[in-house]
Amino acid sequence: MKVIETISGMKKARQELGGTVGFVPTMGYLHEGHISLVRYAKSENTHAVVSIFVNPTQFGPTEDLATYPRDIPSDLAMLEECGVDIVFIPTPREMYPRRYSTWVDVKKVTEQLEGAIRPEHFRGVATVCNKLFNIVRPTKAYFGQKDAQQVVVIKKMVAELNMNLEIIVVPTVREPDGLAMSSRNVYLKPDERQGACVLYHALKLAEKMWKQGETDAHRIRQAMIKLIEEEPLAEVISYVSIADGDTLEERHEVKHGALVSLAVKIGKPRLIDNTVLE
Ligand code: AMP
Repeated sequence: MKVIETISGMKKARQELGGTVGFVPTMGYLHEGHISLVRYAKSENTHAVVSIFVNPTQFGPTEDLATYPRDIPSDLAMLEECGVDIVFIPTPREMYPRRYSTWVDVKKVTEQLEGAIRPEHFRGVATVCNKLFNIVRPTKAYFGQKDAQQVVVIKKMVAELNMNLEIIVVPTVREPDGLAMSSRNVYLKPDERQGACVLYHALKLAEKMWKQGETDAHRIRQAMIKLIEEEPLAEVISYVSIADGDTLEERHEVKHGALVSLAVKIGKPRLIDNTVLE
């Protein structure tokens, strides 16, 4: 497994790869969710490339950039075991040299949900993914359904900028009790870790109501909010949304393919999760 830190080194190594390349962009501190993406990339391509980059431009000024969990030796051991060909670990200065000034700004689908709370977030995500795609030139890039709005934004960017790769979405990997795996779960104290399951329970409730024939989005949202409010450690509900899966516009009437998503602050982290009503 090659570990490469420079853009020129990564581009050169890419030139030497024949066949197809599956690419998994990450911010590191890897868990089974990330590894699931890597396994898909490995199984569907000749080569697998993973990037580890805590992208400063997608963090707001009051967010956790400085304290975001990092463990490169453990990440590399996990990726080596998966049989990854190349790990790209650039520095922030390598990706954003002095006087950096070019941004990719996807409109509309970035204005609600996470985008409403984190105004510059998706501009940072779209820009860094665009740069990484240009450097790695993957055949397919793999993203987790866990970050549902990110998937919508990246797919739109790739389609509208006519980019030459396919975006593959991988199901959310969960802990045995339903909590979606996330690098930020490390911030949870033991009682908060228990309480964090309320996000999953609220999503399960939405699925159950939908299966029983409920199509009024307001009623489903209210039931979810009531359930979350019963959890004393759920401090702030940022949003509970039932939206169109493509446009992310809120729905009154729930239809097949609707995206139910929520964000709840439990202790230090604000956790996000979602489900698609099938
Ligand atoms: P991150 O390191 O948090 O930026 O995540 C890198 C990629 O892993 C993104 O495409 C995430 O959506 C994906 N991911 C994170 N957590 C999970 C999970 N629990 N299941 C599946 N994919 C995940």
